[in-house]
Amino acid sequence: MRILPTIAILAGLFVAACGSPDSGSEMGAGNGQTLTIYSSRHYDSDYALYEAFEEETGVTVEVIEADGDLLVERISAAGDRNPADVIITADAGRLWRAEQAGLFAPVSSEILEARVPESMRHPDGLWFAVSTRARIIVYAEERVDAGALTGYASLADPAFRGRVCARSSGNVYNISLLAALIDRWGADAAQQWAQGVAANFAREPLGGDSDQIRAVAAGECDVAIVNHYYFARLAGEEPAVTEGLAIYWPNAEPGVHVNISGMGVSRNAPNPELARQFLEFAVSDRAQRFFAELTNEYPAVASVTYENAVLDELGDFQADPLAATVLGENQAEAQRLFDRAGWQ
Ligand code: FE
Repeated sequence: MRILPTIAILAGLFVAACGSPDSGSEMGAGNGQTLTIYSSRHYDSDYALYEAFEEETGVTVEVIEADGDLLVERISAAGDRNPADVIITADAGRLWRAEQAGLFAPVSSEILEARVPESMRHPDGLWFAVSTRARIIVYAEERVDAGALTGYASLADPAFRGRVCARSSGNVYNISLLAALIDRWGADAAQQWAQGVAANFAREPLGGDSDQIRAVAAGECDVAIVNHYYFARLAGEEPAVTEGLAIYWPNAEPGVHVNISGMGVSRNAPNPELARQFLEFAVSDRAQRFFAELTNEYPAVASVTYENAVLDELGDFQADPLAATVLGENQAEAQRLFDRAGWQ
């Protein structure tokens, strides 16, 4: 990955203009156009995607990064000064928040509709998944009998008292997981589950997903809930941490909770056509491979093949086919149930 040529701090935002000085000259399609992207993702796959789009079109991509919960505010606050063309965020819950804030314009595209499964895009084309992530269970092989794990439900089993690590319930990954479990089991059972898991905590919720994995490795707890790509990244970059750990796929019907990262065209996009073109490029075979090969996510487009030994090592699983829109709709209730369950 080439170092981005221009990095400016603007109103507290991280702005990176990925100019490709020698790209697009043969195609001449760029015509000096700039595509402005607001993103809450900071992953190598995305930088490769921006650069590849610049190469193919001659367009200049300007990226403004803001952390997940600030993204909506920043796009709204930017108004006409620096309007977004494309909005990118991780997690269906955050896509839903951006949708509720009225930030997206509907997009109709045969390419996007054909390539992105219906359950992973908004029915009116407000957003489309580009990658998926599974929320899995990590455990210490020596201290946990794999047979004791039979799905997410196991984490609430009294057998795991004092042995579970989790991050806070304010985190959108956990909110979306509980949103899925509300759909699966109903609100009462979902709350009981959250209560049972909270009763099993080895310590108060703390840190991010990687911290949960490190805590299991350090013996602070025996099991933890994390997104699969954090485990894959540690297994690839710091194998000493994941040695002695294993992952468990909560395949129990209807399957493993899968979330998405997605993109939409901004309602105020100065270049809506170009923005749609970018979304279509993001679901091309070439771009989809970036997500799997550089960030350890799964491509949203099922037919795409990729090379990633660490991801292959994690094995196959059965994904819950729940529509991503339901994860959004159940956000508020999930947060309420977490509060009632005493999961901080
Ligand atoms: Fe993440």
